[in-house]
Amino acid sequence: MKKYIDLRNTKDYSELKYAASIIKEGGLVLFPTETVYGLGANGLSPVAVKKIYEAKGRKSDNPLILHIANLNMLDRIAKNISELEYKLIKSFFPGPFTLILTRTENVPNEVTAGLETVGIRMPSNEIANKLISYADVPIAAPSANISGKPSGTNVQDIFGELSEKVDCIVDGGNTDVGLESTVVRVINDIPTILRPGKITPEDIKNVAGKVNIDKHIFSKLSSDEKILSPGMKYKHYAPNSKCVLVYSKNNNLLKNKIKEISDSYKMPIILSRTENINQYGNKVVIDIGSDVNEIARNIFSVLRKVDKFNPDIVIIEGVDPQGLGLAIMNRLIRACEYNYIEIV
Ligand code: AMP
Ligand code: MG
Repeated sequence: MKKYIDLRNTKDYSELKYAASIIKEGGLVLFPTETVYGLGANGLSPVAVKKIYEAKGRKSDNPLILHIANLNMLDRIAKNISELEYKLIKSFFPGPFTLILTRTENVPNEVTAGLETVGIRMPSNEIANKLISYADVPIAAPSANISGKPSGTNVQDIFGELSEKVDCIVDGGNTDVGLESTVVRVINDIPTILRPGKITPEDIKNVAGKVNIDKHIFSKLSSDEKILSPGMKYKHYAPNSKCVLVYSKNNNLLKNKIKEISDSYKMPIILSRTENINQYGNKVVIDIGSDVNEIARNIFSVLRKVDKFNPDIVIIEGVDPQGLGLAIMNRLIRACEYNYIEIV
């Protein structure tokens, strides 16, 4: 029998010891973090880590992040950490922040997809932290979803696709942030954002004095380009239906464009910010939230719902790509497979 541990309304985490024993024995555990749900396994066991790739259908060249509970776990898996990297660790651990570091020989190739670097994160979510502490090993965990689908931000959304593939499910309710961590690698002494998230370019600049943003955050990769973060080249977050992302700084221009597009389809569905939900007449509209925090929290769950309406087009209102908005637009542009219209 698969074990389901409900921690939505309790601070009694004793049952997590069972989940931790599954990790130690090489099994798979679905668990919450503050970003999205993770599909976790013992990050030091090649056999256990392989199960993650199988369960997700994840390509073997797409490395996993190792999750730690405290800084004592860091030295086992990373080496040659620079002063600037320590500064970033001190500022953003625990939290929605992944740092790419040079790995030690303890880290299996299966985790890093053969790279000499490893992504490391210390979740701030209490359940995640306790689970890792009890397991007493770094937990390798990608987002909990079948590869290509939106990441799971609550257990109901992903139960159907993953429950048969894991040994234990830990339910911690809805995740706080709703988008995966900010992934950063220090290159030539400058923190470079490989994937945007809740920790924003401004946050990093305030600590490090400078920050770069990898250009692939918004652009498609050409096949011969060297990729710093392999995950960026894969299709992700997309509903089955065709999607288009529309953005303008001017809300009237935005609404008019969306009306125009929706009028040319039979069954459009519009993902609208709260302020515009009554602006689209009798069209099917889903409210994605009123500010970037709310939108980040809702967006994956909404993207998972749209196919049920059987739309011939999903039209998505974009947000200002500043702060957390940068991460939201990064995910949406990929959900739309780069089908993006900006009206200036
Ligand atoms: P997910 O686990 O689904 O949140 O995806 C993890 C992301 O981190 C993917 O985009 C990976 O390509 C990226 N990542 C993990 N480890 C590394 C690494 N060593 N170097 C660069 N990117 C990494
Ligand atoms: Mg993922």
